[in-house]
Amino acid sequence: MPKPTRDNPRHDRRPGAPPGRKRPPHRPEVIAPDRTTPEMGPDGLPQVSLIRRGVERWQAGHPWIYRADLNGDPGLQGGEIVRVMDARGWFLGKAFYSKLSKISLRWLSYEDVAVDTDFFRQRLALADAMRQRALPGETTYRAVHGEADLLPGLVVDRYGDCLSVQFLIPGTEQRKQLITELLVELYKPRAIVNRSDVGVRGLEGLPQEKGVLYGTLPGPVAYDEGLVRVRADLLEGQKTGAFLDQRENHIVASQYAFGEALDCFSYVGGFALQLATRAKSVTAVEISDQAAAQLRENAASNKLGNVEVVVANAFDFLRDAVDEGRRFDTIVLDPPSFAKNKDAIEGALRGYKEINLRAMQLLRPGGYLISASCTYHIDEQGFEDMLASAAADAKRRVQIIEKRGAGKDHPVLLNLRETRYLKCFVLRVL
Ligand code: SAH
Repeated sequence: MPKPTRDNPRHDRRPGAPPGRKRPPHRPEVIAPDRTTPEMGPDGLPQVSLIRRGVERWQAGHPWIYRADLNGDPGLQGGEIVRVMDARGWFLGKAFYSKLSKISLRWLSYEDVAVDTDFFRQRLALADAMRQRALPGETTYRAVHGEADLLPGLVVDRYGDCLSVQFLIPGTEQRKQLITELLVELYKPRAIVNRSDVGVRGLEGLPQEKGVLYGTLPGPVAYDEGLVRVRADLLEGQKTGAFLDQRENHIVASQYAFGEALDCFSYVGGFALQLATRAKSVTAVEISDQAAAQLRENAASNKLGNVEVVVANAFDFLRDAVDEGRRFDTIVLDPPSFAKNKDAIEGALRGYKEINLRAMQLLRPGGYLISASCTYHIDEQGFEDMLASAAADAKRRVQIIEKRGAGKDHPVLLNLRETRYLKCFVLRVL
């Protein structure tokens, strides 16, 4: 028998051998023409069909479908609830449609169910049930975390009997009234504030808006965080009033704090106040006059006389502190996002490295560095690599004690890595 060779493989010569798998014939995909009148489904909802790549993405569980994966322009205005179809007309699910954003579809359901008042009522109840289980007795938390709570384009932060809400896409903006009514029904709040004054709305063609949607706001709200009471202004403060994603990390920071502490990018004192319950002294560095004033009030009302608030650019403060040979025992770095998009990652990493390198230089041996980053364009590994490079340049040995993220009220949705955005490492610098 001749030896098999590449040209003469044995199995091809054997009589009766099963035929090899044939490549499927190349079928070029037919892209439907753009529609001027939308195609309607049996329930009266418009249908949006996907090209093969979009179907694969949807079936792989990704809750966002990009414009390039739609089969032509569906001829819609934006904000509609649509039926998502494959090119052969099979139903895939329901989604919010956006006309202007690069993200055209945001998953709502795999099933052919009515997306009506009851649907949204149930989604809010589903989100609420998790908070009651994970944070029993707590009244300040993120009540709805957008896609991760199966409510795309909606953020609801609860501060006791006041809610602060963001409507981020046309789908939720157009249902503002319905959502407000459902929130009143569920939480019976004293006030609901609309904090839709965020830049991302621009990507959806929506203007920035802020105001009171329901009830009356009693001025700044107060809430407990471990041993301290924090006051935040829901209408004039940053984000929805405070950075609730760091609440658990604030309390963890107090556990490590000792000696002379430094909190950079303090806002109204989430970390600084906690550090002050344990450390001898705290220097809080914040660039905004308004936030610094609120921080001073928070320190005073908690009778924490060991907090010094410095209004300064933290980059300059850290550089000068190194030059002056200052030393600290505990440092927190919680900067705003340095990378708003993918192109900005390199510059952002340089910024993160600069502040972390300086913090490592400033710490006495055995000191703690609590270092955070809230940009989802840099993942946990990228953040760790940056820290390793800063440690090498600082010529310090650094231990990772804890790798943390946002609190339990900010769930991460599998298949949507963007919902895992916050990194907060506890490091010990030797
Ligand atoms: N650590 C806070 C949240 C920080 S948010 C908490 O846990 O509650 C980031 C803060 O950094 C904002 O208050 C912002 O005003 C401030 N900030 C932004 N750029 C800054 C800079 N270059 N120097 C100092 N503060 C800055």
